[in-house]
This record gives sequence, structure tokens and C-alpha cells, in this order.
Amino acid sequence: MIEVKNLQKTYGNTPVIKDISTTINDGEIIVVIGPSGCGKSTFIRCLNMLERPSGGKVILDGEEISAPDYDKSKIGRKIGMVFQSFNLFNHLTVLENIMLPQMTILMKDKQSAYDKAQRLLSQVNLQAKAFSFPSALSGGQKQRAAIARTLAMDPEIILFDEPTSALDPTMVGEVKSVITHLTKSDRTMVIVTHDMDFARNIADRIFYIDEGTIYEEGTPDEIFNHPKKEKTKLFIHNLKLLEFAINDRKFDFYDARTTIEEYCQKNQIPYTKAYHLQSIFEELCIEILMPLLGDEIAIRFIIEYAQRKDVLNVTVLYGKKKLKIAESHNELAMDIIEGFSESIRYAEQTGEYRNKIIIRVK
Ligand code: ADP
Repeated sequence: MIEVKNLQKTYGNTPVIKDISTTINDGEIIVVIGPSGCGKSTFIRCLNMLERPSGGKVILDGEEISAPDYDKSKIGRKIGMVFQSFNLFNHLTVLENIMLPQMTILMKDKQSAYDKAQRLLSQVNLQAKAFSFPSALSGGQKQRAAIARTLAMDPEIILFDEPTSALDPTMVGEVKSVITHLTKSDRTMVIVTHDMDFARNIADRIFYIDEGTIYEEGTPDEIFNHPKKEKTKLFIHNLKLLEFAINDRKFDFYDARTTIEEYCQKNQIPYTKAYHLQSIFEELCIEILMPLLGDEIAIRFIIEYAQRKDVLNVTVLYGKKKLKIAESHNELAMDIIEGFSESIRYAEQTGEYRNKIIIRVK
């Protein structure tokens, strides 16, 4: 069991991990996800003291391994690590790479190290390459050899730092299937990955890291199908947001149109959808809401695009009192908005804006 208490890691003046506390139970498969640079790798490197935490504690089976006087060599026997870039010795054969740490760290004799290396190579389906040097191997084969080397130490816990992200796409599958197979043993595994399908299939629990902490955690179903917090939702749905607040008659609609156009180009929104969006923005804001709201201009226009599903939603919040857009009696504008929308929903709400419309753009 790994207990993490108020973990912090700062590089120079930049806090990367601000405060992480969690417990990882024996046999659990934890997958760590989050935007690039959020500290996923730093987090797992702090679990085996590859990075020394700037604050907090890491406790492994009741012993504080982050204590300055803790014997680091004990950590390597319990926690193995698989790196993005394999880290094999190029001057040794695959077999020797797997034998060496058994002989130098576990003090095994040559024959038993050899036997075990051969067994593990068969487990990762790499027996044919036992006597090859790493330079003769594909990326997928190198990573499978690296996994075998890690397994040779019989670690209770294995940390995987983006194990498939340096691989040619054709080789990702063979490495994922080796890792998936390993989850069936009792080992604890902590896996950093950008591969969301892999995360969903393999994890018992997912940590979504953001803002220097475990921002949200849950089962794959909770995180992928029902994320609760705002940033998790944005990340999971790959949502891109654009937002305008229109507070007075001097609002620069020309500038806003250009910004929307750039947003559409950047997010590869199909041309027809982008055209519908511009038209809805103009008809709704300029033709309907500005006249309807009179002196009390208060509009928030929020555009959300879910790239993966090609869904473009517009949320418009407006007005300090209840006011339906149909009251504008601008039928031409209403026809255009309806014609360019899949659906339009109105809701009255409390708070700064009394009215809310959600439009799914056609
Ligand atoms: P992730 O794995 O989520 O992509 P990392 O943990 O690799 O993120 O990095 C988090 C942040 O810490 C990044 O901004 C990165 O540049 C910085 N960082 C990582 N390692 C070091 C280091 N050794 N020295 C300075 N900054 C680092």
C-alpha cells in the first residue's frame, strides 16, 4: 500500500505538485491522466523517489520512504518502473539486460537469472530476440524487453510513465496487450497515459491531475461518463470554449465575428456549422437581444465545441428579468436561428442572468 500525504514538488519557483494526498491499495490499477505538463510524470516519479518531493510524505507498506535517511536501494526492490524511452543498455543483449539487475541487486546466481529472463521473455512473447542487441529491436519489442526487465525484480508495484507514447502506432497494441495481461496478477500498477481508451479499459481508479493536485478521481465510468468538475469535463470531452460578455452598446461585433472565425478555423469546425454559428450569433445578439434588452444590456455568449463528437453548442445567458426571445417578434431572425439549429432549449434561472438558452448548432 502506498500512502501519499500532502505531496509537493517544486522546480525552482514553479510548484508542479501543490498538494496530493491519496492511498493506493495493494493490487489496484491506477491510471493517471491530465493535460500535458500538469505533473503526471512528476507525481509518479515522486512515488519511487526518482524525484525527491519538496514536501509531504510517501509511505510504502508503513515505512516512510521519503525520509532523508531511508535506504533508497530498498525502494527499487519493491517498486519497478517502465519508462517512455525504454532505458535499456545498448551494449548488452536483451537477455543480459534482464539478467543484470537480478545478479547485481537481488544477488542471484547466473543460471537462475538466466532461467528467469527466458521465462519472462516468453511471457512478453520475445524469446526469439533473447540474444539480440536493443538496436536490432523495434520500439514495441524494446518496450516489451524493458517490461520483462522490470518484472525480473519481482516488484510489488510497477509505475509506467507513458509506456506507449514513444512508439510507432503499429506497435502500441502489442505493448498495451502485455500491460493488460499484467493487470491480471496481484501487482499494484500506476500508469500515466494519454490513451483514453486504454485508461478506460484497464483502470480500477483514474486520477485526473490538474492545478497541482488530484483534481478529480473515480472509476472509469465516473470519470469518462459522469465527470463532475469543470476542468475534467473539458478534458474528457475535449471541449474548446469561447466566451463573450456583452455589457454595453459599444461592444465590437466586428471584432467578435473575427474571433469566432479564428476559433472555428483553429478547431476545424466544418464550414457549414461555422457559418450557422456566425449567423446565430448575429441574429440572436444584434437583431433580437440588443433591442429586447433596451438599456440593460447583459449577455454572455458561450461557444463549446466537442471535437471528437463534432457537437457545437451555444449557451446564451441574458437579462435581469424573465424575457423570452419570441417576445422580440422579429420573425425573420427567429426563422434563421431555428433553421440553423438542431435544438433550442430555454430555461429561466436565478442569479446574475435570469434567462438561459442552449442551442445545438446544425
Ligand atoms: P506531464 O507528465 O503531466 O506532462 P511533467 O510531470 O513531465 O508533466 O512536468 C510538469 C511540469 O514540470 C512541466 O512544466 C515541466 O516542464 C516541469 N518539469 C518537469 N521536470 C522538470 C525538471 N527536472 N526541472 C524543471 N522543470 C521540470
